[in-house]
Amino acid sequence: MSSTHYEEIKKLGESIYENPELGYKEEHTKQAVIDYLKKYNPECTIQKFSTTGLRTTLGEGKPIHIAFLAELDAVYAPSHFRADSETGAAHNCGHYTQVAIALALYRQLVESKAYEQFDYTISFIFVPAEEYLDLAFRDELIQKGVISHYGGKPEAMKLGVFDDIDVSICVHAMGGEFSKRTIEIDCDLAGFLYKRYTFKGKSTHAGVDPFSSVNAYNMSTLFHTAISLGRQQLDEKEKVRLNPIVMESDMSTNVIPNQIKVGTDLRTLSTPYMQTVAKRLDAAAQGSALALQGEVEIDTQMGYLPFQQDRYLSSFVKAAYEEEEQIEDIWEDNSISAAGDIGDLSYMMPCIQIGYSGFTGTIHGDDFIDVDPEYIYDIFPKFLFQVLDKLNGKIDRSKLYKRSYEEYVQLVQSILEQKEEHGIEA
Ligand SMILES: [Zn+2]
Ligand SMILES: [Zn+2]
Repeated sequence: MSSTHYEEIKKLGESIYENPELGYKEEHTKQAVIDYLKKYNPECTIQKFSTTGLRTTLGEGKPIHIAFLAELDAVYAPSHFRADSETGAAHNCGHYTQVAIALALYRQLVESKAYEQFDYTISFIFVPAEEYLDLAFRDELIQKGVISHYGGKPEAMKLGVFDDIDVSICVHAMGGEFSKRTIEIDCDLAGFLYKRYTFKGKSTHAGVDPFSSVNAYNMSTLFHTAISLGRQQLDEKEKVRLNPIVMESDMSTNVIPNQIKVGTDLRTLSTPYMQTVAKRLDAAAQGSALALQGEVEIDTQMGYLPFQQDRYLSSFVKAAYEEEEQIEDIWEDNSISAAGDIGDLSYMMPCIQIGYSGFTGTIHGDDFIDVDPEYIYDIFPKFLFQVLDKLNGKIDRSKLYKRSYEEYVQLVQSILEQKEEHGIEA
């Protein structure tokens, strides 16, 4: 990249950082992407999808189709030092750099015409709303029929944006500080869902007649205890995370509480284990209600599916890294309990998410920002170009898999319908 190209793309990244936008509202970012694409490829066709999603293709009609993805949205983080004072949005997940990196890569491909030599088609897909937040607004969009998924990737899957794609590549900022320029491969992500347990009992006067009460608060206490003791039986390889909290209660000191709602997330590295632990949580809640002659209503809300990075695709990244001189270190196989909607997409097709260092502060924290723009905006996109080159002529179709959006919906339904609601006879 010439220094003018570097300066230009760095400025673009900074302008997105300075104008953070929450999911499905990324209008400024969308326009910045369109302007850049049009500047370097005036003839390009840009398909728009959902609210702010964009897709553009190079080298149409070849037998394999790779997508390079970038996430457009910021995080809700009003205490971040560069947060938007009106919306509370801040780019503390580094997505602003993803957009700039994708555009830098796109420009290299267009200017060099390298994509013409590739034996695959490549699409650049700019996806809204990766972060799972601002849910009241998204509920409104769902009610209006604008979207049907909180996450931008499942929404794009529903709209058919990925129907003709065989493989997806994304990149993501690495949290933490690194003394060497580093990439990361095969960092699997957890999937998650939300459980809400409404314990129901019977109110009576706490002083006069506690004897005929059914205490919902006590049921929730028993439930918390069961979860705590049950942690011993959780497979540590699955990196399970449970953070139960009391969400709603209607209590006063002289009335035995008759209703309390406990909510918890549940994160695991695999879908089957998510189903296993979800069942155990339900059983603990039912048992706690049963022990005290109460009832519990169970409600499950799906988050994102676990993400297993595709090892076959990663082998091409590793091969490119071995020939790369400016990137000094590689991290491999460090799974984490964070989640992303790339997990949902990886149910449909092989996906990888390549990590890159170059940041300081805490990811999703109050001080996250890039400190090595040369690496992020120049060296790393050039490296990705090498990865694409490695893939050229080498992709073995028999190592890929494909599932439909309908199959994805069925899987999510099967997780949700495990046990929608159950009362325990007192
Ligand atoms: Zn994030
Ligand atoms: Zn992110």
